[in-house]
Amino acid sequence: MSKQEFDVAVVGAGFAGMYLLHRLRKLGFRARVIEAGSDVGGTWYWNRYPGARVDIESMQYSYQFDEELQQEWQWSERYSPQPEILQYAGHVADRFDLRRDIQFDTRVAAASYDEKSALWTLKAEDGTKTVARFFVMATGCLSKPNWPQIDGLDSFKGPTYHTAQWPHEKIDFTGKRVAVIGTGSSAIQSIPVIADEAAEVFVFQRTANYAIPANNAPLDQKYEHEVKSRYAEFRAEAKQTPPGIHGRFRQGKALEATAEERQAEYEQRWETGGLSFMGAYGDLIFDQEANDTAAEFVRNKIRGLVEDPDIAELLCPKNIIGGKRLCVDTNYFSTYNRDHVHLIDVEAQPIEAITPTGVRAQGKNFEVDALVIATGFDAMTGALTQVDIKGRNDASLQKRWADGPTSYLGLAMADFPNLFTVTGPGSPSVFTNMLPTIEQHVDWIADCIAYMKDRNYSAIEATPEAEAAWWEHVQDCVVEGLKATTNSWYLGANVAGKARVFMPYYGGFPNYCRKCEEVVAAGYEGFAFA
Ligand code: NAP
Repeated sequence: MSKQEFDVAVVGAGFAGMYLLHRLRKLGFRARVIEAGSDVGGTWYWNRYPGARVDIESMQYSYQFDEELQQEWQWSERYSPQPEILQYAGHVADRFDLRRDIQFDTRVAAASYDEKSALWTLKAEDGTKTVARFFVMATGCLSKPNWPQIDGLDSFKGPTYHTAQWPHEKIDFTGKRVAVIGTGSSAIQSIPVIADEAAEVFVFQRTANYAIPANNAPLDQKYEHEVKSRYAEFRAEAKQTPPGIHGRFRQGKALEATAEERQAEYEQRWETGGLSFMGAYGDLIFDQEANDTAAEFVRNKIRGLVEDPDIAELLCPKNIIGGKRLCVDTNYFSTYNRDHVHLIDVEAQPIEAITPTGVRAQGKNFEVDALVIATGFDAMTGALTQVDIKGRNDASLQKRWADGPTSYLGLAMADFPNLFTVTGPGSPSVFTNMLPTIEQHVDWIADCIAYMKDRNYSAIEATPEAEAAWWEHVQDCVVEGLKATTNSWYLGANVAGKARVFMPYYGGFPNYCRKCEEVVAAGYEGFAFA
């Protein structure tokens, strides 16, 4: 084997690529991770915008594969800020000596499969090649930035920052006039922090969003001790819930409770803070009337938090709650009570243009010194299709997915032997706590590669029948209910020209894990080996 030939080539050194490297090494495989960034961390390496922090409690948003690691690491806050998560990724890389097998500052541009040798060749933008039997895309679900299509974007004379590609150095907005385009999670986290520094902030809102307070605080040491005293059990309990998150998920129906009971339930969840708000009743995302009760509760909270009633109404979302991913905020709505923070409604009348000096909307030029683009990601598929992947008989993944993705279990595709995706479309991924989901996928992939080695198999491929059946099931999971009724990035609706197909698996983490286990128990049912 020449220097650049490996058993497994992995693209991405985020939490998925890092753990995969560790597992593969333990199994005795030669693995090489190729990473576009200059260090580990993936999404937490790139998303350095002010106020970036996790929206799942840090005691859960962490690896569990190593007991010593999860015991020794101490989070400082309930929801840790991005720098601390990046520090954690660095700590894991040091602890398991991962960096020596990671090629940084290298962006993979293409990959092709040779059927005769059953090998993949990856080509990087700098021309370097890596050859491996297995090829794993560990590129994350939210990693390819989505730039808005607004006339004149390149003409702006001041600095333009995308939240998902934030510079490494501190950006000082003191005394500056700043425009923020977008009001999703990234904007909702960054606006209050930018407003603390800037002289003026102009927020361009196309769709108002639901946000539940994080009620972030220094991590309660008693709670930390309690969790750590039974971490494995705590993680196992989390795995039994639909999103794989420890918490209270009630099955009851909202409309079977009295108005007072509902109010008390929502109030208590609002006080607790965070994403568990949607766990109040089992039917919130299935029944419009039930959903209305939760949505109106949040709208009333917004009305109570925002002093100007007209601004408050503009900030009140009109769509269902939980159709788009819920945001988790710190002082977002109350930031609009500050005199220098302005909300510009661009729902009915889109932004007309970016000019050299600002943003033109509502027939007016809003003059600013800096632009913050918080328009999200080409989610689920963007990071996969930006690499020109060619499988058996030159099958192109880009072309295959032009009308929307399909996959078997979010892990593999027919005609692409020995290619695995970690948390690909068709996996529960973004509906779950990503860290345990990543670990589950990585374990499944690593075990599969070891299984093949034991039996001298050179190639594995999903059958077209298994892929079609799984994809039908993925779609069936959202036929009933409201989840797919909102224009969200789950559907690809946020990217101009992208096919509208519901991409993540909404059947719950326990059902997904069970299916993966059944597939293995049946000798990798739905896969063909060569
Ligand atoms: P996003 O949720 O897709 O939000 C993008 C925002 O940009 C939306 O408000 C969108 O409006 C707006 N937009 C897009 N094009 C526009 C245009 N031409 N004119 C005006 N507005 C435009 O992206 P994100 O905030 O980066 O979040 C994406 C996901 O990343 C989240 O849902 C979450 O899963 C994850 N995330 C998590 C955290 C966290 O709390 N840990 C933080 C950030 C991100 P429309 O709604 O009208 O399209």
